[in-house]
Amino acid sequence: MTLRVVPRSTTLTKLVLRTDVPELPEVETVRAGLAAHVLGRRIADVAVLRDYSIRHQRGGVSELADFVTNTTITEVARRGKFMWLVLDRGVATGGQDPAFAVLVHLGMSGQLRINDIDTSASAHTRVRLALTTGSQRDEPVLLDFVDQRTFGYIAAVPLVPTEDGRAGGVGTAAALVPDRAAHIARDLLDPALDLDQTVQNIRAKRSAIKRVLLDQRVVAGVGNIYADEALWRARLHGERSANTLSRAKVLEVLQSAQDVMADALEQGGTSFDSLYVNVNGESGYFSRSLAVYGRVGRPCLNCQTPIARAAFANRSSHYCPRCQRKHR
Ligand SMILES: [Zn+2]
Repeated sequence: MTLRVVPRSTTLTKLVLRTDVPELPEVETVRAGLAAHVLGRRIADVAVLRDYSIRHQRGGVSELADFVTNTTITEVARRGKFMWLVLDRGVATGGQDPAFAVLVHLGMSGQLRINDIDTSASAHTRVRLALTTGSQRDEPVLLDFVDQRTFGYIAAVPLVPTEDGRAGGVGTAAALVPDRAAHIARDLLDPALDLDQTVQNIRAKRSAIKRVLLDQRVVAGVGNIYADEALWRARLHGERSANTLSRAKVLEVLQSAQDVMADALEQGGTSFDSLYVNVNGESGYFSRSLAVYGRVGRPCLNCQTPIARAAFANRSSHYCPRCQRKHR
């Protein structure tokens, strides 16, 4: 992951970093912005400019085209970093087909752009969906999946019932989730998240709290940055074993992570349109102000102790050695 420091940061304030990887708040902004542009539109055509970007599609290009062509987008949903466009395919075929969705994972560099129908594909455009006028829409548009590093992908996948019987994620009313995302836990921005149950699940783990926070089967969408920020806010060392923590402490960490993400959404605050206007170069992802991540050697914003860094998996953990003691 590349981090670029935006010049206005100083040692006395939070660090303002722009990542080139979409984190949960970016994906949520894309989801909400996309909904405003594509709901009610019909997919008239699909063009795959790079096969690798549909590598998870059963049956390849022809099956993708078969599944999505002449369907209407009825919802734009998200769980963790998995986003999906719900199609009315079951309706279109008289209920003969199972419910389907176009699953989009942005990976490390993926973007979705709404373009005019005559816009040329950029060098990194991988998949284009031509969306015609829906009932309330006037102009046809292109929905372009642009992905420089090609870790992302698109696939038409069946929807399966959710384990808990609640809505599949943010942005959908149906208790359905893409089969490829069914193993992923709900994320901290999901209104159907059972916070008490998540606390219990975390406290049942005998591994380090940071490792548990990053486990997508326990809670989705918490990456390295948000884990470090949430642990710092809760004044908790990442190596503390999850099963030794109090209920209240685990709840505090989760609520801290929620707060950090909500702040990023608010600060990012940028609309879908302005985030994704840049065609090349700038990623367009949020700048976010961070209290601990990337601030090695700078004073802790609570106690002025220099922030430390430790190896964690093949990444780093950032923490305050005084506020976040391993043994208490
Ligand atoms: Zn401190």
